[in-house]
Amino acid sequence: MAKRYSVGILGATGTVGQRFTQLLQNHPQFEITALAASDRSAGKPYSEACAWKLTGEIPENVRDIVVQAIEPPLDCDIVFSSLPSNVAREAEEAFARAGYPVISNSSSYRMDEDVPLLIPEINADHLGLIEIQQKKRGYGKGFVVTNPNCAVASIAPPLAALDRKFGLESAVVTTLQAISGAGYPGVSSMDITDNVLPYIAGEEPKVEIEAQKILGTFTDGGIEKADFAVSAQCFRVDVIDGHTASVRVDLKQTATMEDVVAAMREFPSLDLHSSPKPFIEVLDEPSRPQPRLDRDRGDGMTITVGRVFPDNVFDYRFVSLSHNTVRGAAGSAILNAELLIQRGII
Ligand code: NAP
Repeated sequence: MAKRYSVGILGATGTVGQRFTQLLQNHPQFEITALAASDRSAGKPYSEACAWKLTGEIPENVRDIVVQAIEPPLDCDIVFSSLPSNVAREAEEAFARAGYPVISNSSSYRMDEDVPLLIPEINADHLGLIEIQQKKRGYGKGFVVTNPNCAVASIAPPLAALDRKFGLESAVVTTLQAISGAGYPGVSSMDITDNVLPYIAGEEPKVEIEAQKILGTFTDGGIEKADFAVSAQCFRVDVIDGHTASVRVDLKQTATMEDVVAAMREFPSLDLHSSPKPFIEVLDEPSRPQPRLDRDRGDGMTITVGRVFPDNVFDYRFVSLSHNTVRGAAGSAILNAELLIQRGII
């Protein structure tokens, strides 16, 4: 039987925190032993502190856990963090310094040069940064690893598949992002109902820079970023879960459409509990992917691609979709923890 690790969740009462509790309730390797959130929640049982918004009941194993403050110590081996970025920087640093592996959804450390920005199927070798980080920051056993922005989680895999096979010159991305991506209570119903919002604060720069780090090459000293350019426009749409992206790409080498589809379909998955098989599912139906129909593929961890087609201006275009609170957040962090255990780092 697999060894079980105790885990704590920072930001446990929020949109991503709730998804963590749901995804971890029957996980073979992890058991939730600590939950933490703001002063508003600290001291209350989770069932009272949390405005539960997911389908189904609050998992029985967390209902009565008393929420704590976001400070070490917490009674756990591993810390998952889903804190707003303005509080995450200080709190995650404190836990790493206190010796905990911190696996973060927040943007605070993603682009720091000594912090891995992981999609395990793409760049597991970036774990080599952990040793550099521990030495540079004097962390001892603790460290921080991050997962990408939720929109980047849906575009980086197909971009990686194309970059590995043909070289990626540039990508133009238009995202259609779900309401749950804004957390709870998120955007007002008066703003989003019957509407499309053409601005998500801080989102476009993240979509334009994170994929180059994810697809970068790990060297002794750090990550050499991939050299393609990304142009992004990000929209909030009236969908509860599931971020869709319309992507147009220029490639360095010529490729047929069959080659492009094969590169995505054949991109390998990993032998980890939460890594879906296949990693990227390419659909042939002309009207897919759709968030309501496709976001739960592979228990929310699959990247679903469709509408792959030669483009009149760029080389190819396609549509990519993933579940923003699963593959784009909690599920990715759990996958990162599984990878860290498999590689003997935890
Ligand atoms: P959320 O629904 O607003 O939840 C925020 C959580 O952080 C709550 O548990 C809240 O606790 C806690 N919190 C807020 N301010 C705090 C403070 N000053 N001190 C301690 N705890 C505090 O947000 P979310 O959507 O879950 O997002 C959490 C993080 O994940 C953000 O960095 C976000 O960018 C990132 N992320 C979100 C998504 C997504 O799809 N939603 C995807 C990828 C990454 P209380 O309930 O006690 O206030």
